Amino acid sequence: MQLLLVGLALTSCQSQPRQLYTPSRLTIDPATVSPSHPVSANRISLREISTRRQATDPVGLPSAWRPEIPASQWRQIVIHHSATASGSVSSIDAEHRRRVDADGKPWLGIGYHFVIGNGNGMNEGQIEPTFRWREQLPGAHAGVAAANAAGIGICLIGNFEDAPPSPQQLAAAVRLTRALATEYNIAPADILRHGELKATDCPGRRFPWEAFHTAVTADAATLE
Ligand SMILES: [Zn+2]
Repeated sequence: MQLLLVGLALTSCQSQPRQLYTPSRLTIDPATVSPSHPVSANRISLREISTRRQATDPVGLPSAWRPEIPASQWRQIVIHHSATASGSVSSIDAEHRRRVDADGKPWLGIGYHFVIGNGNGMNEGQIEPTFRWREQLPGAHAGVAAANAAGIGICLIGNFEDAPPSPQQLAAAVRLTRALATEYNIAPADILRHGELKATDCPGRRFPWEAFHTAVTADAATLE
C-alpha cells in the first residue's frame, strides 16, 4: 500500500511546468580544465569538481551517511532540485507533511532521502540524510512508484531553472552520489535526473548534468 501511495504523491519540484527534459546546453570546455583559466560558477569544470571532491572523498559510505538498519535494495539514484531559492530538511519536511495522498492520508514527511544545502536554510554544500534514509523507507520524490521504491532521492536546494548550483554544492552532490553508487553498486545508467523518469524539468535546465554525471562516474572503478 505504501508504495502505491508514494507513487501517487506529488513532489515539491513537480510544481514546475511539466515539459520533457531537454539536455543542458552546458558543455565541458577543455579550457576550463587548465589551471591557468579561472573557473566561474556558471561553467563548472571536471577539474573543479574533482579537486573539491578529492579533498574529502571517502572510500565507501561515511558513517554519517550509513543507515541505522540494513539497507533496502537500492537500484537507482534520482537527482532533484527544490525549485526554491532557499530550504532545508525541516522546511521541506514541514511542507510535505501538509500534503495528503490520493486517499486523503497525510504524507509521512519529507519525500527525499538526502538534501544538499545552498547556503539559504542549510549551509552551502551541507549534506543531510532524512528519516527516510535513516529508516530505509521508500521515497516520495519520483512520482513513479518503481523509482520511489528503488531510487535514492537526492534534492539540492535551489532553482536551477534560474541559475546553476554553486561548485561547492555540486561537488557535495558528486561526493554523495559517488559514495552511494559505489556502496550499492548502482550503474551509471541508473543515476538519473528526475526528468528522465517523468515529464518534469527537474532538476532544472541549468543543472550541469553532463559534467555532474561524468564526475560521478569517471574512474569509478578506482573507488572499489
Ligand atoms: Zn524532482
